[in-house]
Amino acid sequence: MARRPLVAGNWKMNGLSASVGELRKIIAWAAQLGNVDVMVCPPATLLAGFAAAARGSRVAIGAQDCHTAVAGAYTGDIAAEMLKDAGAQAVIVGHSERRHYHGESDAMVRDKALAARRAGLAPIICVGETRAERDAGHARAVVRGQIEGSSPDGTPDFTIAYEPVWAIGTGLTPTPRDVADMHGFIRQTLSARYGEPAQQIRILYGGSVKPNNAAELMAVDNVDGALVGGASLTAEEFLPIARVYG
Ligand code: PEP
Repeated sequence: MARRPLVAGNWKMNGLSASVGELRKIIAWAAQLGNVDVMVCPPATLLAGFAAAARGSRVAIGAQDCHTAVAGAYTGDIAAEMLKDAGAQAVIVGHSERRHYHGESDAMVRDKALAARRAGLAPIICVGETRAERDAGHARAVVRGQIEGSSPDGTPDFTIAYEPVWAIGTGLTPTPRDVADMHGFIRQTLSARYGEPAQQIRILYGGSVKPNNAAELMAVDNVDGALVGGASLTAEEFLPIARVYG
């Protein structure tokens, strides 16, 4: 099945209101791209402004996290419905930085994915092993556990981002062979759970994707795009990554 690739930029805790200028550059350059979806996920403070700037363009705007509840006494948190109201179309859930710094469990991530679905946002569910887990030969088991625990039942209307923790922000990447092995394994795991509809799930690779390695990584079987951190902050680095799809 042909899956339309997605190149999504995770800006993390970077960007001020003036950064809309960078988004405008991304929007202008993205207009020339071929068969690829492009998304920028800014910090929550910039969502509404970015969504307004991106309206009518081919750049979608996503959020980086959401709470599981619709509303309530959760100081500092943001409901999926609020993100939708601000103009987001998607939300990243279970990023390794959320799992690590905020102690998010698989069950919590699954509930966030369900909250996203409830609000009409497309969930991007992140999974990935640490260096120690890979070195111990546990990478597949860890990723399978995260997928089984973090993915909601029902129609598989989500995207998976495989992001080995040791590759995030380090400049290190797995070999294309290791990426092929893990993405194939993720597809099998999803197929065992969801059957034929699992063929439509996009599986992104994330972790130190840069203009100089994107073509090699995006050419790997079952890699349906990229989740990009550092290199998504400027149009100069981000667009060449999306351009590998033409
Ligand atoms: C990320 O954190 O989602 C990520 C992929 O970061 P980087 O591209 O900077 O490794």
